[in-house]
Amino acid sequence: MLRFYNTLSGKLEEFQPLEPACAGRAGRVRMYTCGPTVYDYAHIGNFRTFVFQDILRRTLRLRGFELTHVMNITDVDDKIIRKANDAGVSIQEIACKYEEALFADSDLLSLERPGKIVRATEHIPEMVSLIERLAEKGYTYASEGSLYFRIGKFPRYGQLAKLDMKGIRPGARIEADTYEKADPRDFALWKACKPDEPVWEAPFGAGRPGWHIECSAMSMKYLGESFDIHTGGTDLVFPHHTNEIAQSEAATGKPFVRFWLHAEFLIVEGEKMSKSLGNFYTLRDLLAKGHKPSAIRYLLASVPYRRQLNFTFDGLHQAAQSVERLRNFQLRLRTEKFPDGQSDALRERAERARQEFDAGLDDDLNTAVALAAVFNLVRDANTAMDRGEFRRGDVPAVEALLERFDGIFSVLADDDRQKLAALKDKLEVAVPVGNGYLSDSQVEQLLAERRQARAARDFARSDQIRQELANGGIIVEDTRDGVRWKRK
Ligand code: AMP
Ligand code: ZN
Repeated sequence: MLRFYNTLSGKLEEFQPLEPACAGRAGRVRMYTCGPTVYDYAHIGNFRTFVFQDILRRTLRLRGFELTHVMNITDVDDKIIRKANDAGVSIQEIACKYEEALFADSDLLSLERPGKIVRATEHIPEMVSLIERLAEKGYTYASEGSLYFRIGKFPRYGQLAKLDMKGIRPGARIEADTYEKADPRDFALWKACKPDEPVWEAPFGAGRPGWHIECSAMSMKYLGESFDIHTGGTDLVFPHHTNEIAQSEAATGKPFVRFWLHAEFLIVEGEKMSKSLGNFYTLRDLLAKGHKPSAIRYLLASVPYRRQLNFTFDGLHQAAQSVERLRNFQLRLRTEKFPDGQSDALRERAERARQEFDAGLDDDLNTAVALAAVFNLVRDANTAMDRGEFRRGDVPAVEALLERFDGIFSVLADDDRQKLAALKDKLEVAVPVGNGYLSDSQVEQLLAERRQARAARDFARSDQIRQELANGGIIVEDTRDGVRWKRK
């Protein structure tokens, strides 16, 4: 039974989509994730949230659901406008550059693309008509050319964030929206036209949309007026998601979203990693230091999303070691010659690991429990192999568990080097794609060359290859069964 912590109810709830399974058809989950504001490279805090969303979508599919997943790109906002004006270029130029960077980074981190990616500037008519709907129902008022949402008219305002409306103080995002308001808690739906800002015509005056209206308009356009899951980082609970609920439910009179899921922050030395604090690393910063994308993904995925993730380089090294351990184990499973037969004990052990893995994910995506299930099995299987108790017939069950694991965590393919090479021109930083990145197939190729060199009694070349492999962290063992290799 899949359960999620729903920020709206403040409880763990069993998850079922609004469109349930029927007549042999799987249930369909409609999900919206708040994507990035494309004014700069995303930092690994942002990617913590995007990796959580990726784990969520993979888990929903593992659980047999069909998925309609929409993610927005905020391509007009104060920060983009400022950056474009400073550089003397259009906002499109800035947005386009960082959107491209986002997807290059996402590919490196094995993030599946949401089925539909929607840009704010391509949905202005939808936002305008949603604002008009709100205006007809009396939820808006104009002031100095801007249009505001009157939250006093929406009694449920603040439920998601458990706000005590009397004590609420305007935060940074609110201040960014502040013009002349009847009530300081009201927020801008449409911002008056200003010099040096992009402008769109609307029946209520030329201007540009506020930030919150884009997600209400785009999510409802593609997912319907009520849908299953809406996610983002915990900083979006208030005001962004709070305002989305107010706008959407005031317009439609229907519940907007069933499940609200929020990822906790990635922090550095106790503080949220953020651009404004200047304590951030982009993915490229870490790649330039020689860290592998798979290790970064593993680190971001390994801490359950509702716990803060304290980023340290020590943690990143450990993540890299964990990935190597799993890859080495998979290689051992695939290359070692085991005696014939099959052991019931190991089949049962693998089945238990599968159950524990699934139970971890089912429990609000507890990735730590899911990983423990895999590593415990790896330890037990290694022990059985060392004792000669692991049989050829045990391989498929253990291999199947690894595949199940990788369908969610996506770190086993030894393809960091290839991915980096493929995206080299897009990364704009020098990434040391060095020996440390020898892939499985490259190792196999070098070993084949070494075999040939030895057969030809060219021992100098054979030693040279051994050294090349050693530089790449590959240990070669010549055994009676042939050559075996592993990573340091
Ligand atoms: P933004 O581009 O600022 O709208 O952020 C994109 C996503 O990253 C949002 O879902 C944010 O909530 C999330 N986010 C921002 N900073 C962090 C952080 N330090 N840790 C985790 N998620 C974050
Ligand atoms: Zn949003």
